[in-house]
Amino acid sequence: MAEQEMIKKVLLVFLPSESGVDGARSLYGEKEENPFFSWFNRSLRAIIKQSQFAIPPLSLMILSSVDVPGVEQSICDMRFEEFPFEPSVSDRLPHTHLELVHEKNAWDLVGISVQTGMAKKAFELADQLRARGISVVLGGAHVTLFPESCRPHADVLVHGEADDLWKELLTDLASGSIKPDYHSESFPDLGQSRPVQKRALIKSRYFTTNLIQTGRGCQYSCDFCNVHLLNGRALRRRAISDVVSEVARFHEHDRRIFFFVDDSINADPLYARELFEKLVPLKIRWFGQATTTLGQQRELLQTFADSGCQALLVGIESIEPASRSAHKKNQNRAGELVKAITTIREAGISLYGSFIYGLDGDTLDTPAAILDFVRATKLDVPGINILRPTPGTQVFERLREEGRLLFDPLDITSYRYSFGQEMLYRPKNMSLDAFVESYSALTQELFTVKNAVVRGLSAPRAKSAVMLFNLFYTHLYALSRHDLQHQWKKRGK
Ligand code: SF4
Repeated sequence: MAEQEMIKKVLLVFLPSESGVDGARSLYGEKEENPFFSWFNRSLRAIIKQSQFAIPPLSLMILSSVDVPGVEQSICDMRFEEFPFEPSVSDRLPHTHLELVHEKNAWDLVGISVQTGMAKKAFELADQLRARGISVVLGGAHVTLFPESCRPHADVLVHGEADDLWKELLTDLASGSIKPDYHSESFPDLGQSRPVQKRALIKSRYFTTNLIQTGRGCQYSCDFCNVHLLNGRALRRRAISDVVSEVARFHEHDRRIFFFVDDSINADPLYARELFEKLVPLKIRWFGQATTTLGQQRELLQTFADSGCQALLVGIESIEPASRSAHKKNQNRAGELVKAITTIREAGISLYGSFIYGLDGDTLDTPAAILDFVRATKLDVPGINILRPTPGTQVFERLREEGRLLFDPLDITSYRYSFGQEMLYRPKNMSLDAFVESYSALTQELFTVKNAVVRGLSAPRAKSAVMLFNLFYTHLYALSRHDLQHQWKKRGK
């Protein structure tokens, strides 16, 4: 038998989410009767896609970097391509897939990363594949939290972070002894060297492929978040030398912007300072995510600016003290936020500030307070979300016990994860009617073409990206308001 035939072919699949930049897909799906708006929406969507705001799925980059003799891995990013079921679709496939679809059931194993809001779609694809005789492995957050709901749709389940498990699984696949379950006893030690490769990516598709993770875990316990449940409360860090050499290696082949995907890059200030001081000579430009505590970490803030930080996403979540305490958002106080944001912007870093409206301490006065806050801080990109009680989080359990969920808590796949403008629960201090109306009015006031231009021009850095993002949001929030009204009418109130 030729050696080529012995190679096991594994395809890692990324499903398009219905949130953020990709989320527009679901909103555009609504039938637009006005031909002009229909044309406008189609054109804008094409522009957004061509702008390539999309970034690659980091988890699949990490898994596809695991080398096991006798196994060949590819990535199928379904934001850009259909799943390659049949040989006839080969002409639409990226080069890396071409030789792998010449026969039916060419894949020895297909891996799908499952997020709760996308579980239904993932299960549908898994069922189709298994009906064709293709083995399916499911992993990701939903498998870790709800393995029983995944069991009927998979041959293999990977529970927890897969870094070490994936090597074991691929080795078993190569030797024909794959098991139905792979569990990790503890979180992987990120201090071990695991260089990330980009060989399975089609780089030109993405806004950037320079994605770097420096660590995992979060010591906080915000009740609407599952990061501390999935990745643990202890901060685990990669070795600084590994991160620096990865940045240098990526930068050599791709001069585009870097994105540090950690939930909070300043959570361990000593580590962050040492790392970013070492990155200064590389002269990269980067985006990342941080907490507003950075405003009080003056030396680290300066190091971030010196090392090429252009913009940071900060989770403001709420400026209402009652909401922050109701949802255990305790790591910084509401009264300190304006000063912190002003300080970070004065250091020359633009800020995307993410809010959640509809928390348990919010009232109908909250939108006016958010508007004042955005004006006072000159926040470069505001993001306004509705609370999303994701199954598995503490807030989901609490709202379920209080009878406030608007979806069936027993059917976790009925939880719809979209752009975030989704009525999934009853707010505490206002009627649903009043909430929907006030939310719509808030986003209408914040996102206008004029505001987008003003914010872009006054951003400390990344001015054109800030303007483009605001313009994009002006359009997307308009679609979202329409979608929210549509959901509302469908419910019959
Ligand atoms: S929202 Fe941010 S700070 Fe809060 S638990 Fe999640 S990752 Fe940690």
